[in-house]
Amino acid sequence: MRITALAGGVGGARFLRGLLTYLKQRHGAAPGSFAVTVIGNTADDITLHGLRVCPDLDTIMYTLGGGVHEGQGWGRADETFGVATELAAYGAQPDWFTLGDRDIATHLVRTQMLNLGYTLSQVTAALCDRWQPGVTLLPMSDDPVETHVVIDDETAEGGQKAIHFQEWWVRLHAKVPARRILAVGAEQAKPAPGVLDAIRDADVVLLPPSNPVVSIGTILGVPGVRDALRGTRAPVIGISPIVGGAPVRGMADACLTALGLETSAEAVAGLYADFLKGWLVDDSDAHLAGQSIAGAPIEVVARPLIMRDLAATADIAEGALDLARHLGE
Ligand code: GDP
Ligand code: CA
Repeated sequence: MRITALAGGVGGARFLRGLLTYLKQRHGAAPGSFAVTVIGNTADDITLHGLRVCPDLDTIMYTLGGGVHEGQGWGRADETFGVATELAAYGAQPDWFTLGDRDIATHLVRTQMLNLGYTLSQVTAALCDRWQPGVTLLPMSDDPVETHVVIDDETAEGGQKAIHFQEWWVRLHAKVPARRILAVGAEQAKPAPGVLDAIRDADVVLLPPSNPVVSIGTILGVPGVRDALRGTRAPVIGISPIVGGAPVRGMADACLTALGLETSAEAVAGLYADFLKGWLVDDSDAHLAGQSIAGAPIEVVARPLIMRDLAATADIAEGALDLARHLGE
């Protein structure tokens, strides 16, 4: 069974860990009888202190490779902050994004390889050699795509300015309204090698509960990806990141508001209506089950969707694969 997933950071990584647990432990699938390919969001990437940082790819790599800070859901376990303390003593900017010492080693290797001319795909494969995440992790593109957020600024020409997504998310905690969210570079970007084939040749395509705008949305913005999803024979099954009208953690509601959408499982499914076949919603959204979404033939199934622990998350993955099997029949 070939499973392909599109994923952001923490939500995607947690779900994928549940999926692998389900496949290996419960389903009893022999190693080699399944292959999971993850197409990771790279539009959160940023250069800090000369280092190229890929937060979503690293969150997946660390989580599936057993090196993640469990409580936080991102960054390295047992991290220290010696470099960050020294940078602060110099007054180095930006000072709102902290890199841990262990994490910095990843960014050093990545930046050196990129400077030598390796592609991000090649770099990601090299980093995964160490972490052995149990999936093939592909960046959505080897070309730079950066999410920028347009916010009001009286001092700027036209009364607005665009800032990097990380500045809006990490420094401003998404509290300043986003007037627009842009994926800079997306139109010129090519899907990374293997991305379109992974969608076309899959038996199942999964959309984990990742941010629909700045994680899944940016992957869908890479030319060719959406068409591949529309064209694949594999059922595309999504897991709602919105539960009872709220993102379970994080600030995805601020991103949906920027698109003029309400924060609901239904509104998110509407963003995928041209290729989505199955949609898992939480029991608190059970009223959507059996209903038509955006006039599209999407099978909606309600079940618990809180990823409270690995067992509950494996159950969600099982639910997604069951729905895929049912739709494939
Ligand atoms: P990020 O890149 O680190 O922001 O992570 P993702 O984009 O992969 O996922 C973030 C989204 O996961 C959040 O916006 C939430 O809506 C969703 N999420 C987090 N925890 C849960 C959970 O337990 N259940 C569900 N259904 N969604 C969750
Ligand atoms: Ca992210």
